[in-house]
Amino acid sequence: MSEQPVAMITGAASGIGAATAVCFAERGIRVGIGTFPGDPHDPETTLRDVHDAGGEGQIVEVDVRSTDSVDAFAEKLRSEWQRLDIAVANAGILREADFGNLTDEQWHDMIDVDLHGVMRTARAGLRHMGEGGSVTAISSIAGGVYGWQNHAHYATAKAGVIGMMRSLAVEYGPRGIRANAIIPGLIRTPQSSDAKNSLGPEGLDRAGGYIPWGRVGHPREVAEVIAFLSSPQASYVSGQAIVVDGALTVA
Ligand code: NAD
Repeated sequence: MSEQPVAMITGAASGIGAATAVCFAERGIRVGIGTFPGDPHDPETTLRDVHDAGGEGQIVEVDVRSTDSVDAFAEKLRSEWQRLDIAVANAGILREADFGNLTDEQWHDMIDVDLHGVMRTARAGLRHMGEGGSVTAISSIAGGVYGWQNHAHYATAKAGVIGMMRSLAVEYGPRGIRANAIIPGLIRTPQSSDAKNSLGPEGLDRAGGYIPWGRVGHPREVAEVIAFLSSPQASYVSGQAIVVDGALTVA
């Protein structure tokens, strides 16, 4: 069996997931590039970037709303590469809805992707990890630090994943498996730049002016922290929620 670790990343065709795949490749970690079938971004771009970084990757279609799909993702990596060491539950959606008019369907759709999807990814990954490993889930300042109007469903899911990682950190600590959450601030990605969302490209530019760092973040700046948390260098970091926001929430 190769010594090279193997990682599964959901939502890795774009944004933070794609940047994480490249960071992993640079560190000699083989990456399963989980790609949502309806994603307009081409996962081949992520795969090319992984190869350019000298790494090894494979594209696997995965919909985190389906337990079978997520389980199949983990099983495929394990059967082809004989191991699975790292799970990054990154896939997520962002929708705006004022609470009074929020439908049950909107609530369930959000929770299914942003909370249940993380649970399915963590569970599938953990089932294949031996002694040692890492799970990282992507939360948000809206779930971990800030209140954000018209995003109660999103904030609920993002707060939930922090509690989930804390619990897993305790449950899996004796097996040497760490679980952490990342709390990104405003990061320029397809999701945050989508004009259909509350921010959009102009909103992001405006918001940059309020951030002490003077700008919104790059996906790579989040990916580097995910790569650290997934590495042996973070061997005593577990159950934490790490804010990556250019000092936005402490200003
Ligand atoms: P992104 O849109 O580039 O990435 C989200 C990915 O999730 C996409 O690849 C998309 O196809 C995938 N996805 C959506 N539904 C899916 C499903 N059902 N199954 C599998 N994949 C699915 O945006 P991003 O900003 O890189 O988002 C990555 C994570 O970071 C998300 O969880 C997001 O909520 C979180 N986040 C982002 C920001 C930000 O400012 N960009 C801030 C806080 C948290």
